[in-house]
Amino acid sequence: MARKIEILRLDHRTVRDQRITSHVALSARTFGATGFTYAGERDLNLEESIKDVAKRWGGSFTINYTEKIGTFIRAWDGIVVHLTMYGEDHRDAVDVLREYDDDILIILGGAKVPRYVYELSDFNIAIGWQPHSEVAAIAVFLYDYLDKNLLYADREGASIRINPNNSKSKRSERFKN
Ligand code: SAM
Repeated sequence: MARKIEILRLDHRTVRDQRITSHVALSARTFGATGFTYAGERDLNLEESIKDVAKRWGGSFTINYTEKIGTFIRAWDGIVVHLTMYGEDHRDAVDVLREYDDDILIILGGAKVPRYVYELSDFNIAIGWQPHSEVAAIAVFLYDYLDKNLLYADREGASIRINPNNSKSKRSERFKN
């Protein structure tokens, strides 16, 4: 079975977080994650819209919901990474992680992160020691950690794909060789 690189997004609020949670899931998918689980309020619209994108744009990407964060993390059979600005420098952690090919669970907080999440994680990792967002954190982490070719690779079963067309990104004269 293919290696799992799954996100656990905590504390989703249907009204306030729909866009950001959806952007976390889409970014995770694009940057190479294989699945997305969220906790907090159940949001069927969110699930439908992510499934729809995954179906049309190809590859395999799952979306699930969990009520029990602690149980979910403890049951994870692989490495657990929590992204937080209070963590260690991600460049050092990624060097270590690259030596393993276990499944990986990557936890992203929401408004609040319970203490036990830090304790249950094998790694608490910062993407810089400044506050920013779940979307930036997952994109930078996966971009540094996984194969960058994934970003431009064809995805199996896609019914839509971008046709890169030079005329659409016409460079101005100054940048032509
Ligand atoms: N005070 C929170 C914290 O602990 O990072 C900020 C909440 S932030 C809006 C929501 C989530 O984005 C965090 O729980 C974390 O997963 C991620 N995040 C934000 N800044 C980060 C950083 N510098 N490094 C890693 N993850 C970060």
